[in-house]
Amino acid sequence: MDISLPPDVRERGIMNFARVWTHAVVAASRPGATAGSFPDALRNLSGSLVDTLLSQPFAASPADEVGAALADLTHGAEDALAATIEVCGRGLPAAFGLRPDADCLGRIAVVQGALARGFTQAARERICAEQDSIYRAAHKADHDRLRILFSSSTVGIVVANGEGRILDTNVAFRDMVGREYPWQVLGRPLSDFVDPGDAERVGRSLASQRRAGPGGLPVRGGELRLVDAAGSIIQAELTTSCQFENDRCTLQLSMILDVTDRHRLQEELRYRSRHDPLTGLPNRTVLEERAAELMRAGPQRRLGLCVIDLDGFRAVNESLGHTIGDQLLVAVAERLRRLLRAGQELVQIGGDEFVILLADTAGIEDVIAVARLVLAALTEAVRVGEHALPVGASLGLVERAAAEGDVADLLCAADITLYQAKESSRGKWMEFDAAHHDRRVRGHRLSMMLPAAVREDQFVVEFQPIVDLQGWPGAGQAEMVGAEALVRWRNPGVGWLTPDEFIALAEGTGQIVPLGRRVLQLACEQAARWQRLRPDRVPYVSVNLTVRQAREPGLVDQVRQILGDTGLPPELLQLELTESALLGPAGESTQALIDLAAMGVRIAIDDFGTGYSNLAYLPRLPVDTLKLAGPFVERLDAEQQDGGGSRVGALVDSMVALAKGQQLKVTAEGVETAMQAEWLRRAGCDSAQGYLFDRPLRDDQIIHRLCAPEPGAGRGMAQVSLRG
Ligand code: C2E
Ligand code: CA
Ligand code: CA
Repeated sequence: MDISLPPDVRERGIMNFARVWTHAVVAASRPGATAGSFPDALRNLSGSLVDTLLSQPFAASPADEVGAALADLTHGAEDALAATIEVCGRGLPAAFGLRPDADCLGRIAVVQGALARGFTQAARERICAEQDSIYRAAHKADHDRLRILFSSSTVGIVVANGEGRILDTNVAFRDMVGREYPWQVLGRPLSDFVDPGDAERVGRSLASQRRAGPGGLPVRGGELRLVDAAGSIIQAELTTSCQFENDRCTLQLSMILDVTDRHRLQEELRYRSRHDPLTGLPNRTVLEERAAELMRAGPQRRLGLCVIDLDGFRAVNESLGHTIGDQLLVAVAERLRRLLRAGQELVQIGGDEFVILLADTAGIEDVIAVARLVLAALTEAVRVGEHALPVGASLGLVERAAAEGDVADLLCAADITLYQAKESSRGKWMEFDAAHHDRRVRGHRLSMMLPAAVREDQFVVEFQPIVDLQGWPGAGQAEMVGAEALVRWRNPGVGWLTPDEFIALAEGTGQIVPLGRRVLQLACEQAARWQRLRPDRVPYVSVNLTVRQAREPGLVDQVRQILGDTGLPPELLQLELTESALLGPAGESTQALIDLAAMGVRIAIDDFGTGYSNLAYLPRLPVDTLKLAGPFVERLDAEQQDGGGSRVGALVDSMVALAKGQQLKVTAEGVETAMQAEWLRRAGCDSAQGYLFDRPLRDDQIIHRLCAPEPGAGRGMAQVSLRG
């Protein structure tokens, strides 16, 4: 519920609600129980009530204080509480023009609960205070005052002797137990008026208090059931304490509060908090309890959920109004209810979401069977008034053994499955796919960790050498002309993560921007070191950019600044972008790219061959290099082995030729075999990277690699192999 009331609506609502409330409480109370200032007081409390109801985030606790204030105003009369609870249910939405939907009614139930709690607490404190005054009066032998307190109290008062026999009671007590005359109660123990189920326990507790001596504490708020003369049960709360003379109990004073109304009320509130107000179906709370019960019954027990989400319900609500929408829901609930077999339970977990819980399933087939019935039951349109409303539903199905996770897991799985079903096609169902789910959960967890990881600099960059292919195979290692920067995440909780596991997440959350900046900085710092170490060989560094990075407004400034800070000449930086990152929405090249190219930074098209691979736009782009995608190179090998001669081979040949025709350099990626390398070299590729030459290397390894003997030189020298 997301409502802020305009001030005039709030004011008018408070006036109206306070009027109805006052009326209800006065009607329910004994004459004279409320004072003249009562309406004003309720007006103030009405304001707090509505603010509590609409609080964001929702917190009901201020209603506790409203309850306490009401108890003070009404001297703890339970009738006033009952009337208040009643008025809140109907009156709050009406007075403030709120739609009484499930969310609103749910909140009201919680507010009512808090109200009742605050009221009860305050009423109990009143009794204790009352009891204290009675004691003081008794102690001071202030008999007049004692009489007044005794007879005016709405609380039942019982005075017993040292043996627990009743010496005196007030009218309130005798009313409670339906005995008109004192002689009907005098001389008997209090437990005579207690329900047999509680009598022994109460008798024992009273006796032990009398024996405990002056050090004993009063017993407050014990619950018990009284029986009146007609045999009806009265729920009551008992507070007792004793007076002692010379360590012997001379008087035992019991105060008994009739809490029957409150009990009924609490039962009702409990019911309401566990059932949908519209359909009366049990709600999510009940589902969680039932599922937990089933799971506790044994790890081998199986259970299933069929989650049902009505398609297009919102549209019905919006076009035909909530009354029709409500009737539709009631009708659907009834159809679903009729499908249930033994061991199955229907619950409603949201406005238009239902769940059938299946106990002791044998496998997913059982849930699928229910799913079929549900879809069949919903094929026929629902008649509401003059409308025949078609209902569609998406279903999510889960079935598993109790041991496979807790209730939260199960419900989460069901939600996800439903979501997938909705995403894929409507009116169908989707079984829970654990692997898919695990990926999502892991992805979600990782993306939550990303901001801190960026702040704490948990990222490391490795470099995969890009080697000169035309000079290959030489005598030594192929000559390294550049290196691609590849980021890795050292996650303290999870361990090392490869970019495939987090770049897309970072792209989705925007964290790619600070992360990319860090990678660019680390890469340029390294490349500047290489330049200082080997000015004669000077490899460039090639850094990947995602779509979001490429569109980031500050990109050009960022690159310029990092180049300035690290002292790396722009020609030694290459940026790799896929076709989608390279092109603007209309297939044009972006201004940022033009600016970067103008600065002297090299631009490469990454993964060429996997996107549109439209060579026609190449002349219009400021691109220097084309990186032939790994999968292409891989197929090259497979095809050669098939002896198929070469559809892919021919394609590679012509792509390289076309690129060369446009003065582009070509780098082949993912080169793993000499056969691939040989084909690519003959096709005219300038450079290559792949496991055949080097794996991605740490920065210290790359420096070793750089300082290794040049091709052809150093025959007979010990060579450091840094592969792997
Ligand atoms: P990519 O740009 O296509 O990078 C090449 C990927 O192929 C790297 O995987 C590399 O380790 C791997 N590779 C290299 N040689 C071979 C080979 O011979 N065989 C096979 N099968 N694979 C090889 P990596 O490091 O896991 O990176 C995956 C992708 O993540 C990269 O694909 C790139 O798109 C992205 N990425 C990596 N680092 C960054 C970064 O710093 N920023 C951005 N935006 N993306 C990055
Ligand atoms: Ca790349
Ligand atoms: Ca690539």
